[in-house]
Amino acid sequence: MTDPCPCGHDAWAAPRTQRQALALAGHHTGIAHLLTVVARDDSRWLGVLRCTRCGRLWAEDSMTSGQADMFFIYPIDATDPEAWLSAAHPLNPPPG
Ligand SMILES: [Zn+2]
Repeated sequence: MTDPCPCGHDAWAAPRTQRQALALAGHHTGIAHLLTVVARDDSRWLGVLRCTRCGRLWAEDSMTSGQADMFFIYPIDATDPEAWLSAAHPLNPPPG
């Protein structure tokens, strides 16, 4: 079943390199208007966003790239944002 939601939940995956995370950061800019924050842990700079169109969840993570801290997102299959957040760890994708 294909999903036409413009958030692209099916088209993206958790980044395994900083390059992929950068692409996801760019994607975030494009779909930010679709996403709403449902849970956030400021002490770890992690969060969970929900797509207002399809209702599925995206993780919000950050990494240090050069001198700057940068946020990126990636799709997750979780249904309980708080439970996901309490079990989550920053990805810290390696350069590549
Ligand atoms: Zn969506």
